[in-house]
Amino acid sequence: MSDRLVLVINCGSSSIKFALRCESQATALLSGLADRLGSDQATLSWQVAGTQHCVPLADGEHATALTALLPLIDDYSGQPLSAVGHRVVHGGEHFTGAQVIDLAVLDAIRTNAPLAPLHNPANLTGIEAAMRVFEEVPHMAIFDTAFHQSMPAHAYRYALPEALYTEQRIRRYGFHGTSHQYVTNQASQLAGLQTGQGAWLSAHLGNGCSSCAVLDGRSQDTSMGLTPLEGLVMGTRSGDVDPNLHGHLARTLNWDLPRIDTMLNRESGLLGLSGLSNDMRQLEQARAEGHPGATLAIAVFCYRLARSLMGLAAALPRLDGVIFTGGIGENSSLIRALTVEHMAILGLKLDTDRNTSAPRGQACMINAADSTAIMLIPTDEERQIADESLALLPR
Ligand code: AMP
Repeated sequence: MSDRLVLVINCGSSSIKFALRCESQATALLSGLADRLGSDQATLSWQVAGTQHCVPLADGEHATALTALLPLIDDYSGQPLSAVGHRVVHGGEHFTGAQVIDLAVLDAIRTNAPLAPLHNPANLTGIEAAMRVFEEVPHMAIFDTAFHQSMPAHAYRYALPEALYTEQRIRRYGFHGTSHQYVTNQASQLAGLQTGQGAWLSAHLGNGCSSCAVLDGRSQDTSMGLTPLEGLVMGTRSGDVDPNLHGHLARTLNWDLPRIDTMLNRESGLLGLSGLSNDMRQLEQARAEGHPGATLAIAVFCYRLARSLMGLAAALPRLDGVIFTGGIGENSSLIRALTVEHMAILGLKLDTDRNTSAPRGQACMINAADSTAIMLIPTDEERQIADESLALLPR
């Protein structure tokens, strides 16, 4: 059988990220972004073999962008697609794994929309448009939440009245499941264990950040909850705050819910603490120049991350290793060093040279000889989505 091809699609309200993945190749044949959809400035840009291309789109419709992709896929693949894999943010309690999309799956994504009002409707728009444009090909949904459906009730329930769970499905769901699953599988290979085996703490640190405890390929607990706001300090998201903050701001400042939502999701995190930027590269530079806000933002980020990882250790019977991934986790030796400094009680110690000279884009161990494993593992959510899509096809 020739290598099968999967088109991976991540559809937002005004953008579609895509990648054409071949099952035997480590990198995408073609990847890109349809941006500013819904406006008259919509563009389709893609890169192939290191060269960038960009064309305007005649109108800003999702279907137009996907139709413009058809000839590109023909040009660069030379064979038909085997599947289209869609990233879907919220699968609620309906899905514990990837699904072939049919009417029932579409309905369930719609039913879960109140839990992810910004994401699920946009994901649905993308799926429906793609199903029209690529009508001969099976479409699969891969949910950010599905990997965490293995969490036990004591990890996923909030201490709230039961009816809020039974009637409103208010519980902890967790996100970034494809990333945590991918990097923990890679970790078992790097450690010489059977694929999927091992007891891991995984830190996905990008613009969004989450931590996860994984035992033998199953998520035991994670830092994000009902929504992707809970847990760690992120680029512009606050992570955990006192739940009474809403009431306090309403009473003292007369802020309404949209104002508070915006503050917590878009004006907080690294940006709010530093007063400078949500971008870790810029903050590291500013910290090196003595900027107090950047210094504080990085200190809070690392301390809270260490506290979260150490709390998640309660979900594991032992610890085989800690994994850093995502744009920050993979690239920032400073963040890894400051975080691990807080975790000595777990027997974790970095090898300073290995940490600072870790090769870009490669999985490697960065712990000292007398430490539990600490790994840097580049995530590849598209690979995971492509693999899970192919696994649903009959062989
Ligand atoms: P992601 O969402 O995974 O693309 O990650 C984005 C974050 O990674 C941003 O905060 C970037 O500043 C950060 N990042 C990327 N490269 C580096 C780097 N070399 N050093 C520190 N942070 C980085």
